[in-house]
Amino acid sequence: MIKGRLHSFETFGAVDGPGIRTVVFLQGCPARCIYCHNPDSWNPNGGREVDTEEIVKVAKRAIPYYGEEGGVTFSGGEPLVQGEFLIQTMRALKAEGINSIIDTSATYIDEYTETAISECQMILLDIKHSDPNKFKDIAGKSQDPLLEIIDLINKHRKPVWVRQVIVPGINDTEENIKELNEFIKKIKRIDKVELLPYHTMASDKYEKLGLSYRLKDVGPMDKEKVKHLSSFINY
Ligand code: SF4
Repeated sequence: MIKGRLHSFETFGAVDGPGIRTVVFLQGCPARCIYCHNPDSWNPNGGREVDTEEIVKVAKRAIPYYGEEGGVTFSGGEPLVQGEFLIQTMRALKAEGINSIIDTSATYIDEYTETAISECQMILLDIKHSDPNKFKDIAGKSQDPLLEIIDLINKHRKPVWVRQVIVPGINDTEENIKELNEFIKKIKRIDKVELLPYHTMASDKYEKLGLSYRLKDVGPMDKEKVKHLSSFINY
């Protein structure tokens, strides 16, 4: 059994997939999103060592609350970076009757990605931007893995919740949302699209880590405007 690296757990999560969920934030992310709220999750050697047994044990404690839909969501960081550990852990959870969701930025793909996708119940797909150049500007990584991952999701017929963080002056235009609406037509099974208003809580974390924060002068996203933009989504 291989070991993983863990950033943190969140118990009784209610927003990262259907039902009540135990959220497992795995450590390590190759992206450098300009608005990342967890810069402390970037370093693949950071966090702490964790084994599958511990994750199963934590997840089992909440079984009475999962109901029909709840379970475990693997987030990060970027969970696909620890593909082999992720597969091993999702299989162990399945043996206990607990479903798994992968919350991915689709900025990374390797030989484990397809099996990981085939093993999970559904995908939370964080699409940084539909335009490849803007995607790279936001995430610091190429959009290519996203296109490959969408093909794998379609191949394995997994349902998807699409998400995009909406940042003032970066992607908060009607044109952007119309482009996103076109882009996501590539995905065969969409259950939900969520536009998430950017908020400014991350800047303190960057200061503490001695990192510069590109959005330090950008205010929070107007929630009403995001509601209006959501009206252009009709998948
Ligand atoms: S993909 Fe997620 S964890 Fe990685 S840098 Fe972007 S927002 Fe942060």
